[in-house]
Amino acid sequence: MAFENLTDRLNKALKNLTGKGKIKEEDLQASLREIRLALLEADVSYPTVKKFIANIKEKAKGAEILEGLNAPQQVVKIVNDELTALMGEEAAPLNQSEKIPTIIMMAGLQGAGKTTTVAKLAYKLKKEQNARPLMIAADVYRPAAIDQLEILGKDLDVPVFSEGTDVDPREIVKHGLAQAKEKNNDYVFIDTAGRLQIDEDLMTELSDIANIAKPDEILLTVDAMTGQNATETALGFADCLDLTGVVLTKLDGDTRGGAALSIRDVTGKPIKFVGQGEKPTDLDVFYPDRMASRILG
Ligand code: GDP
Repeated sequence: MAFENLTDRLNKALKNLTGKGKIKEEDLQASLREIRLALLEADVSYPTVKKFIANIKEKAKGAEILEGLNAPQQVVKIVNDELTALMGEEAAPLNQSEKIPTIIMMAGLQGAGKTTTVAKLAYKLKKEQNARPLMIAADVYRPAAIDQLEILGKDLDVPVFSEGTDVDPREIVKHGLAQAKEKNNDYVFIDTAGRLQIDEDLMTELSDIANIAKPDEILLTVDAMTGQNATETALGFADCLDLTGVVLTKLDGDTRGGAALSIRDVTGKPIKFVGQGEKPTDLDVFYPDRMASRILG
């Protein structure tokens, strides 16, 4: 991830303030204008930017920074804290079922990185917690998706349940869950179908699967590189599914940062993980404070 432009612009905006013991109202206004522009250019959603700037103004006023010593550092801290708050404050752990298996359903548009993320997450749990995950291949519309999951499963030594492309995905999920019970798997991942765009058939299928599987997590994978479209997509899915969190993929290719900064605020859903590459190990827990520090450089 390199939000170079955003980091650069924010630093410049804040630099305007440093070197001055006291900050004049007009200097603060000018910096906030710069910050606002930098965020908009990073493709952060407009209402989010507006709220963000208003919060900083409010906090700056509250802290009476215009009078105080170390005023510029205080502004930097306020911006840092607000960036962290915007992205959800704390890391959001995976929901756990009281009795096994914990069921994790993955949704998202085609190409967002669902299949890859299912494998990455299953592998992470296996490696870190000695978990015994099962991956259910329920994307029957893109035949390559099933092959892809099976290949990943073989490589990572994680079992895959599949019944080809001729069985209704709802049935596949039922059968897969029955197998997980039988084999004592502690996590079940359901890789669902995507489309190029949200449509009614897809949403009906996904909510049927959610009703059958009663997942502990419904994670939406969204492609960070699509910026505000990622946020719109998340809103569309949240309309039809009880999303519990978001996985932001392709952060390694995202140069702007708008999705990372907007999604939590716009949808109210936490970013739980970020994909930062194509390899099975390229998945990380999302820490809002670390991301804020990275953005501020
Ligand atoms: P699906 O249609 O949602 O199941 O998407 P896939 O899992 O097939 O992913 C689509 C493409 O995105 C594949 O080429 C993946 O290797 C790639 N991909 C997925 N996640 C990431 C990521 O975090 N970073 C990068 N660079 N590529 C990714």
